[in-house]
Amino acid sequence: MTETKVKIDTGWNLDNSYARLPKKFFTRQSLDPIREPRLVILNNKLAVSLGLNVQALQSNDGVSVFAGNQLPDGALPLAQAYAGHQFGHFTMLGDGRALLLGEQITPKGKRVDIQLKGSGRTPYSRGGDGRASLGPMLREYIISEAMKGLGIPTTESLAVVETGETVVRETEQPGAILTRVAASHIRVGTFEYAAQWGTVKELQALADYVLQRHYIGIGVDEDRYLLLLKEVIKRQAELIAKWQLVGFIHGVMNTDNMTVSGETIDYGPCAFMDTYDPATVFSSIDIHGRYAYGNQPNIAAWNLARFAETLLPLLHDNEDQAVRMAEDAISDFADLYNNNWLAGMRAKLGIFNEESQDESLIENLLNIMQKHGADYTNTFQALTVDKVSDIEMFDTEEFIQWYKLWKARLGRQQESKDSSHKLMKSSNPAVIPRNHRVEEALEAAVKRGDYSVMERLLEVISNPYAYSQEQMEYATLPEPSACPYRTFCGT
Ligand code: AMP
Ligand code: MG
Repeated sequence: MTETKVKIDTGWNLDNSYARLPKKFFTRQSLDPIREPRLVILNNKLAVSLGLNVQALQSNDGVSVFAGNQLPDGALPLAQAYAGHQFGHFTMLGDGRALLLGEQITPKGKRVDIQLKGSGRTPYSRGGDGRASLGPMLREYIISEAMKGLGIPTTESLAVVETGETVVRETEQPGAILTRVAASHIRVGTFEYAAQWGTVKELQALADYVLQRHYIGIGVDEDRYLLLLKEVIKRQAELIAKWQLVGFIHGVMNTDNMTVSGETIDYGPCAFMDTYDPATVFSSIDIHGRYAYGNQPNIAAWNLARFAETLLPLLHDNEDQAVRMAEDAISDFADLYNNNWLAGMRAKLGIFNEESQDESLIENLLNIMQKHGADYTNTFQALTVDKVSDIEMFDTEEFIQWYKLWKARLGRQQESKDSSHKLMKSSNPAVIPRNHRVEEALEAAVKRGDYSVMERLLEVISNPYAYSQEQMEYATLPEPSACPYRTFCGT
């Protein structure tokens, strides 16, 4: 009897709508194969939701797609062109080390970008090597999984392969490629690129494409570009409020790192805040605190103003009128953001109804936390389980006073204590990816090839509202250290 090996269909179902945009928006690119790909982590759950076969993805053929050594059926690899304001300065950028393979149409009919990050040089690489190192790609994998678990819109990580080659950063490091999945990779910076170097027709093609892809509800009316601006502002206001509510600090909120879909993108020097302090910065290059925790809403508004400027030719034939429309839309950001933040903060405190004093109740708590250097996540976690004894701040007179006011406030709503507790549990994560835990996982993986630490961490952070026993271990703070935690951009 002859044995026949049936090749399992991997399930790639790619379209290339972005490649149908005017040529100016991308450069077609061939693959730049790597020597010795080794799959080190695969996101099974995500793979299945994309309609991909996990077993087939792990085969040599499957892995060679993640390595950029082989194209999946239907792929049309390209590097996207974009510009951006980096720390306030306008620059031409583009995918300098990424390739869009195409858009996977999922079994549910969703369209998502499949992108290789670290796949080699492109015309947009400038001085860079087009490659990525293993630690930062695993870090992006961990943080994007954490964000997903927290219920925050984010790009996702499908797989990481080691390339078997080294990349030179401050030191020599193992190279890696991350396969990233996104609603799209279109950035505020993509619009800046179109406005700066494209014709109005090309800009309009991009805007219409984004409307089609992300804002189908807006329709084709003449005022659609103003509606697009307003919707992007709305989604960003929701997104940034979610970041603030969990203490996420992006670290490099340049306009090229802000999507028009409303997903968090480009996890570089990002980290979660420990001690509550609006001035918290982790990135080693953010010397002036432009992207500090407390400044993120302002920066989002600044970035959105850059977005609005790009749309001016589409908003109105009369420039003054267009500017007024854009300014009006941008001025809504502050209220939209505040409303989202306030609603989220009420939920964190178990409050269902609205009272005018709520904002000051919240601000008072935050002030006390800042004064006493209380841990942001653990304070809300302790309030949730009503175990207000472990944290030093809880013994202070100020806090005791605040606690009484809070309890009285909870008494002025119809919902039961139990409902309040449930609301708090679903609003206050029991765990976040603590910096020392992330470092520990990366060190085990990168230095010792041991992925078990990372896998355990992923399991714990993927369901941060579980309040399980195992999570408690991950809620403990690091030993006090002489040097503040620093994150780096050299990825
Ligand atoms: P990022 O800091 O990852 O948001 O990247 C900012 C810009 O630098 C983008 O245009 C990237 O494509 C580019 N870039 C980052 N690292 C590299 C690299 N190793 N090689 C080429 N381009 C890079
Ligand atoms: Mg970027």
